[in-house]
Order: sequence, then C-alpha cells, then structure tokens
Amino acid sequence: MYAERFLKGRAVKIALMILVFVSTTVPTGAIESAQGRPRSIIFRFRPITIGEKRAFHVEVRFRASDQVTAIRVPTRWGGAPHLEEQTQNLKVLTHGATLEDGADPGEKKLQARPGERVKLAYDIVPLQTGLFRHPQEHMAIINTDYFLFNPRNALVYPKLPSTDLVDATFDWRALPKGLPFVSSFGDGKRELRVRAPWFQIQDALFAGGSFRLSKSFENRTTLVLATRGTWKFTDAEAFEKIRRVINEENKFWHANPMSFFLVTLAPFDDNSGTNDGSGFTNAFMLFLSHEDTFNAVRVKLLAHEMFHRWNSMSMGPADEVMQWFTEGFTVYYEMVIPLRAGLITYTDYLKYLNRRLQEYQTSPFRKVSNAEWWNLSHTSGPGYGLPYTRGAALALWTDAAIRERSGGKSSLDNVMFDLVDEARGPKPPELTEDRVFAAFARYLGPNQVAQMRAMAVDGADIPLPKTLGKCAQLEQVTQTVVDTGFDEKSLESKRIAGVDPLGPAYRAGIRDGQEVFRFSIYHDDPSKDILLGVVIDGKEEMINFSGAKRVETNQYRATGEGNATRACTPF
Ligand SMILES: [Zn+2]
Repeated sequence: MYAERFLKGRAVKIALMILVFVSTTVPTGAIESAQGRPRSIIFRFRPITIGEKRAFHVEVRFRASDQVTAIRVPTRWGGAPHLEEQTQNLKVLTHGATLEDGADPGEKKLQARPGERVKLAYDIVPLQTGLFRHPQEHMAIINTDYFLFNPRNALVYPKLPSTDLVDATFDWRALPKGLPFVSSFGDGKRELRVRAPWFQIQDALFAGGSFRLSKSFENRTTLVLATRGTWKFTDAEAFEKIRRVINEENKFWHANPMSFFLVTLAPFDDNSGTNDGSGFTNAFMLFLSHEDTFNAVRVKLLAHEMFHRWNSMSMGPADEVMQWFTEGFTVYYEMVIPLRAGLITYTDYLKYLNRRLQEYQTSPFRKVSNAEWWNLSHTSGPGYGLPYTRGAALALWTDAAIRERSGGKSSLDNVMFDLVDEARGPKPPELTEDRVFAAFARYLGPNQVAQMRAMAVDGADIPLPKTLGKCAQLEQVTQTVVDTGFDEKSLESKRIAGVDPLGPAYRAGIRDGQEVFRFSIYHDDPSKDILLGVVIDGKEEMINFSGAKRVETNQYRATGEGNATRACTPF
C-alpha cells in the first residue's frame, strides 16, 4: 500500500542487518582477511545461591589486549541505577594478573601481559526489593522462578570497539536439565557460539526458568514467545498480535526473513497501567501490569520494540545521547506502522499522537538542549521522556517537510531506509548526529537541516505541521496540566530547590532549602492536590496545594470521517 514510495529495487538492496552467525555458520573470508581473526570471549554461567538469593557465578575468558585492559562493570541501564552493586566477588583467576579500581565504579583496570589469556570470575547478585515494578525490570532478574538479563545490565567484560567483529561463546550447560532456556541466539541450545559485531553481542537477551514457550515457523522465521505469569489473555492471543506486528514491520523494511526471533513477556506486580519494553538483538522483552489486556496500547509497545531492530540496531551502534532519534523517531513509527497496517484505528492514532505532543509541549525541559538534558540526573518524572516526545514531534516535522519538498515522492521512510543501507557490511558506522543530519540533507534544504539540528540538539521550538494529510487539522486547545512550581528533581536530594516565586508551591509556603520527608504528585490527574511533607523551623509539616494549570497546546483534530484509515493517512 505504500510500495510506491520505495525506490525500484529496494527489496533486493535491503538486507537484514542483524547478522548473527550461530554455531556452524562461517562468515566470508573477506571479513577475516580485512580484520584478522576476530577476538574471542567466552562466558560460562553457573546457577548458585548466595544467602537466600539465587544468583549466577560467571567466568569470562579473553586475551588481554595490552599491559592494561579496561574492564567494564555495569552501573546503569534503562533507568536502573547502581548496578555495580549487582557485581560481587569480582576477581582475576590468572596467576600474575591483577585487577584495580578505575576512575569510576563502571571501570576496572586489568594488568596482564599483552596477549595473555586471562580469566575473571564474579557473581551476579540481583538487587530487586519490594514490589516488582519499573525500573527493576532493567536490573538483572534472577529469582527462584526465572532469570532474564542481558550483557549490558549484568555482565563484566573487557571494553572492546563496538563495531569490531567478535567471536563470543555463552556457555549455559550448567543450567538444570529440562529448564526452559531461550536467548537472542536460538532456542534449546545451551552452548551459544556467535560471531557478530560486538554491539550486537552486547545487545543479546537471555531468558530461562518458568517460561511457557509458544513457537511458530513461517516465512523461514522461527518466532518464539516466552511468557510467564497469568494474564487476562491467552498466550495464543498474545502470540497472534506479536506475529502480525512483526510481519508488518518486516514488510515495511522489506527485510529478508530472519531465522530467529524471541519475545519475552513477564508481569509487573502493579495491577494496571505500567508497561515497558526493550529491544535486543533478534529479540525484545515486554513487561505489562498483570491485569492489562492486549489492546492498542500494547500493539503500540510491540511495534515500538520491534522497530528498534532497525532503529537503531541495524543503523550502527548509537550512544544514548542519540535517543532523540533512536527513541523519538521510533515513537513516531510505533503509531504510524500499526495505523498503516490497520492494527489500530485512526482515532487511536490521533489520541496517542496528541498525547505525545502534549507531553512535549508542556515539558518543563522543552527548551533545554540535548546535552543539558543528559546532564540532569533523573530516572522518572515529567521530562524524563523528553527525547521520546521531542523526537516524535521532530519526526512529524521532518516527514511533512520531506513530503512537501519532494512533492510527495519521498518521506521520512526514505531517510530511515538509507540509514539502514549505510550500515550494511561487517563494520557498520556509528549512528552519530552528523550521520543522521547528513542523511536528512539528501531530502531537505540546508536551511531546513540547520533548523532540524537546532530543534534536535539545541532545544529550539518544533513547529507542528498545520494538517496531517487531508484528515486532521492542528488546533489550539486549552488543557489542564500539573505544574508544581519547584524543581522536582530536587526531591531526589530530599531538599527543595528551584521554587518559582510566582508559582503555586511558593504561595503554599514552600521555600528553597526545606527538607522533604514525603511527597505525592499526580501528574496524570491535575484535580488531585500535591502533597509535600517538609520541615519548617524544625517541625514536620504537611502542605497541600493544587498544581493545576491551564495551558494552551496544539492538538490534531480529525476532520471528516476520522476512521477511514486508508483515506486518512498521509502515508
Ligand atoms: Zn524504545
């Protein structure tokens, strides 16, 4: 239905980027002769118990690259802080080699003879406590029922160039016989041998324990859904939705069949309202509240995680400061692709788009530059999603600009395809700001690219297109949002800061420097009061005030028959 947007021959040109060679596959000689023999790294896992806790003992073997080899210890992943506490009993087992602290908790320095084979050992001891909820899914999960983690959030290894080809072995043979185990690299195998660029190995996902496995083999792809917990839907219903979303995205990218794909689905302890997903090599993981249904919101989440297979995992390794693109543009497509496929209605599409645009327009950090935003320390709260919402608004802007300039011949889709094309081959280039803007420069004028850079990087305002195709129109609406009138980041340090003298917090008696012992703020419900427990003149006091504030935002309204999806998409 949108094939006319493709250049001729596109389907032949696009190859699947996540080339992972499992077990027997040998890459072409060209790779070997160009780079020499790939470096090898071997991880061996053994389930253990430490105190009351299930844990994993890990041994990792590799060759020291130099007199001093930098060793990477996980510290933070996906909003989960202090992961360094998960790594315990880290030691070097090679005689004569030593391990010293580095500049920060995320780095150790290994002293060994260059080229010497060294062995490190450590235990992964999980940190979860209390209710299992965000961001605990981003820590290594190891408990009596199951385990689920990835190299980035759980493993210690030498720092290697992210695009270098590496031979990695993951040895899980010590797992109890009969225990379900799946990973990015297949189902059923316990000894995984992989040759792939290092960043794709680091993006692997490992899952084992009380998972129920659903499988299909279609279009030469083995799709595995690993589910656990009880849900309001059947495994078969979830599997069918996942299958449809994956097929739609493969169609969109004109991707070659992938040999294997894994989806894990596990519950949060919350009854409803939280869901989260993360994309990995040949896999994504989903967490939903256990009373959730598989509705349009979940379809969107699936589409989002699947989209990461290409943005950014098939575009080259990307630093997290690129999230305005890797996340923001994925947010744009998480809505567009299900809409194009008829998996969500136009009404739903507009609803989610408007929600993201409202978040962007009312974000307290809206004018903050990308670099400044990354220097703020926060893991939740308003503004946490800035790269997502700013990027989604920017994607909308670039798509409209490209369509207009090309008279409808090209769209944002073409830029996305180009970025994947550029990253084919054994050593994909990094996905940097410069590379992204250069890709847009093929479809936009120099002034437009400069404007785009200002919006993405400097925090300049993103003007929203006046219309969406012929079916929706931008209009100004008045909405109620929550504005606390102080810097909510200061709650982390338990001391109030950034009180706006003209804001509601000030009027209620809140001042800079007051100690906070309790707070509740409902950003989703402006009708609820803000409650702050603060210490005033040595006395604990509870202060209530309303943060409701009327703001003007721009939202899209459907014109005409809003549900005639095909006719209404500009795509
Ligand atoms: Zn994402």
